[in-house]
Amino acid sequence: MKIKALILDFGFTLFYFREISLERYLEFYKQGLENSASFLLKKDILKEESSIQEFKKIFKMKRNSFFRESLKTNKEYPTPLIFRLTLEEMIQKGLIENDISLTDELFNSLADAYHAFELEEWIPFPTTISALERLHSIKDLKLAVLSNHPYHPIIENLLKKYDLHQYFEYIQTSARFGKRKPDPAIFLDLLEKLGLHGDPSSAMMCGDEHADIVGGYRAGLKPILCERTYKFPFEREIPLTNYIRIKNLSEIFPYLQ
Ligand SMILES: [Mg+2]
Repeated sequence: MKIKALILDFGFTLFYFREISLERYLEFYKQGLENSASFLLKKDILKEESSIQEFKKIFKMKRNSFFRESLKTNKEYPTPLIFRLTLEEMIQKGLIENDISLTDELFNSLADAYHAFELEEWIPFPTTISALERLHSIKDLKLAVLSNHPYHPIIENLLKKYDLHQYFEYIQTSARFGKRKPDPAIFLDLLEKLGLHGDPSSAMMCGDEHADIVGGYRAGLKPILCERTYKFPFEREIPLTNYIRIKNLSEIFPYLQ
């Protein structure tokens, strides 16, 4: 059957992370949290060294426990929410004054500071732009992005930075939906948005890991693995055999018929 929608993962399917290593990635997040703390210092919400340390400690504990929980439940805890819960706990414990106004604008600014490095470090693969142009020109094929990311504006802004957002009918993230891949609900909701509700086998899910392939498969889509050369530690094996593998997006065209 002819494919009516192609859903693409973002990280390591459309874009790659410059000189990826786990250490480098974690170092960026450490710096990101420093930047969020500096923002609060400038706003006079954090005032002294001890409150900065406490802010970083509470945020990291919450982020890690939500991460562990999301592995079991697939629930996404967006970065602005973790900042909100961190500051609420600090107020409760009397670590910061209780007259600060906790607004969405403040939490989004903290998330902007925390994730800012990603706007520089994620880059489209050499084949991404030409493959998207060609995919976009295929009649009756809808394109969408589906990314597990805790802060939606990063994915949207990276696609805009390279003028790629124009190719997609819909850009969905776990931050916006509330659940992460491989939860079938996030795939089924996106199919509905694309007007393919009840017709999952007419859609293809292309991604680089377990969450994309297993999630896509369980929701009834055709899974296609875009094989990544870098292997993450503790990566989950894909317990399926009959799925297509490609090395990059330019190899997808024969499988769309
Ligand atoms: Mg990926």
